[in-house]
Amino acid sequence: MNHNFKNSKTKLTELGEFKLIETLTQHFNLTQTSSILGIGDDAAILKHDQDIVMTTDFLVEGVHFDLAYMPLKHLGYKSVIVNLSDIYAMNAKATQVTVSLACSNRFTVEALEELYAGIKTACDIYNVDLIGGDTTSSVKGLQISVTAIGTAHEQDITRRDGAGKNELLVVSGDLGAAYMGLQVLKRENEVFKVNPQNQPDLTPYSYLIERQLKPEARKDIPELLKTLGVKPTSMIDISDGLSSEILHICHASKVGVKLFEDKIPLDPNVISSCEEFQLDSTTIALNGGEDYELLFTISQEDFPKIKANPHLSVIGHMTTEDVGKTLITRAEQQIPLVARGWSAIPEEH
Ligand code: ADP
Ligand code: MG
Repeated sequence: MNHNFKNSKTKLTELGEFKLIETLTQHFNLTQTSSILGIGDDAAILKHDQDIVMTTDFLVEGVHFDLAYMPLKHLGYKSVIVNLSDIYAMNAKATQVTVSLACSNRFTVEALEELYAGIKTACDIYNVDLIGGDTTSSVKGLQISVTAIGTAHEQDITRRDGAGKNELLVVSGDLGAAYMGLQVLKRENEVFKVNPQNQPDLTPYSYLIERQLKPEARKDIPELLKTLGVKPTSMIDISDGLSSEILHICHASKVGVKLFEDKIPLDPNVISSCEEFQLDSTTIALNGGEDYELLFTISQEDFPKIKANPHLSVIGHMTTEDVGKTLITRAEQQIPLVARGWSAIPEEH
């Protein structure tokens, strides 16, 4: 499980900052017509005809990722994906990213090349250009900040504050798998610490682990909705867990919600691993996080357009604010929906 970088010997100081940036970014080309100038000058130049949407995320070693079970290539990939997901959640097209790094001298040039191989794969698959960034040293660990840029016609943009009463609440894909993947990886890492000879067979958990280590952003959903002729009234991506994202929409739109437990989409692998770990699958879907699915509201008239789609599940409907925010359980109990999305703030020692 632990990754020692074979043949990775080149210290960062051996190259110097300029050569390092050149080494890391040499395989990146500009593909977007809106990218006029990329890496190499004081700033990049972009030319967009539409509204520009922008987002940034920070990933800190020991807080957001652990290199004991997160290979650097996957980390690079994921650091881009989490930002693209936010662009798609605005119903926009992602076009460019910047990547800023702070790393300690524990990392070698070869290790950072692994990170950039993952960044490159994400850029290629999602069709976005790397147009710049910043590189600096840190006293301890690795910190990565990615900024993503995208475009959309003003009338297509989906904010969190557009949901109205009686609208349907819809989610893409299935929920809880990334969290369960993390539980499997943590457990195997503990086993590895005790017995490094142990080679666990993780095949039964491959879906869960992939959802944690190699998440995908739902680029296809805004495209699908456009094809179906559906404009969501509000949209958000699920990074912190279903319940906290629903509450964000409710808060921003000043509406209530009725969420139905039996409608929450769960993969069979999530159900079986929850049994194994003795966790409640609904709790995991509500609070696990890192699913990077899209959650949105649509008007009731649009229901026939989406109802047969295997990627989309209607999980509830919006109400007036005074009705409150309620989860209706399988036993038809009504319980208040609360946010227990995990927080990335560890105690200071
Ligand atoms: P400056 O001194 O103007 O900040 P830098 O030497 O930091 O310039 O960066 C030179 C060029 O390399 C710029 O185009 C910058 O955007 C790009 N760059 C720097 N670090 C990175 C990185 N980690 N990933 C991608 N591009 C980078
Ligand atoms: Mg700089």
